[in-house]
Amino acid sequence: MTEKLLKCPVCGATGFSPFLEVKDYFLTREDFSIQQCDACGLKFVNPRPDQKEIGRYYQSDDYISHDTKKMSLFNRIYKVARMFSIKNKFKIVETSAHKGKILDIGCGTGEFLNYCNSRGFEVEGVEPNEKARAFARQVNKVSVNKDLTDLLPAGNSFDCITMWHVLEHVHDLNETIRMVKGLLTPDGIFIVAVPNCNSWDAKKYGNFWAAYDVPRHLYHFDYSSLDLLISNHGFEIRNLIPQKLDAYYVSMLSEKYRTGQNNYFRALIFGFWSNFMAGRKGRGFSSQIFVLSRKKP
Ligand SMILES: [Zn+2]
Repeated sequence: MTEKLLKCPVCGATGFSPFLEVKDYFLTREDFSIQQCDACGLKFVNPRPDQKEIGRYYQSDDYISHDTKKMSLFNRIYKVARMFSIKNKFKIVETSAHKGKILDIGCGTGEFLNYCNSRGFEVEGVEPNEKARAFARQVNKVSVNKDLTDLLPAGNSFDCITMWHVLEHVHDLNETIRMVKGLLTPDGIFIVAVPNCNSWDAKKYGNFWAAYDVPRHLYHFDYSSLDLLISNHGFEIRNLIPQKLDAYYVSMLSEKYRTGQNNYFRALIFGFWSNFMAGRKGRGFSSQIFVLSRKKP
């Protein structure tokens, strides 16, 4: 079934304008409408598949990147990039949260948590995909729950909760952030990484921009809409960190969606340019990591 949003989940306003028509280039080639809230500027897929229906838009092996046997060149590069990204994420966690218990929501196959564990953190994951969850448990020896709600009854609390490119996939934004807040220690750190629909590459590629990834990405944030959302829940931004590799990766995919071909050279140029332009303003990178904590009174 599809469902229609009548109220903006960030500011509650009811006036929306059409923003962009985008195709699901990744899987179904179905078309979706992105609307924009007239009051706060949040962009979202509307109407959208409901929580039951969305499952079929994830039914691709590509979305679960845990095939360890194939060692093609692409896989080798992918693995090097993944390790680089895991270490980068860990550095952010370590400098913001020091030591303790970490919860990764949407932990996939658990490589990041496995690494955190090897560096002295207690770790816990949430992952709705059954195959990924099994892999995380068996291979990466991580404790993983199916749903965030599974953690609530046991009185768990965490020093750091991370959502790496997950918040944009979640149907109920406010309920999710409420649960996160309830699971966080008073001085806990909440880390959210999301694509930025106000980046140079987003504007350059328009409806071919790969990070629209409709309908899996239900929401498309920029700095101000994300700031408003988390501030409604009593969080504030402590630090904003760019994910510079994403500009290249997203440009590579967007080139493919736009032309049907791999244009690695153009992707390299546009990725570089996106980072260069963003660096001048500081809030315009293709993807950004928001390090959040509770607002101090
Ligand atoms: Zn709004």
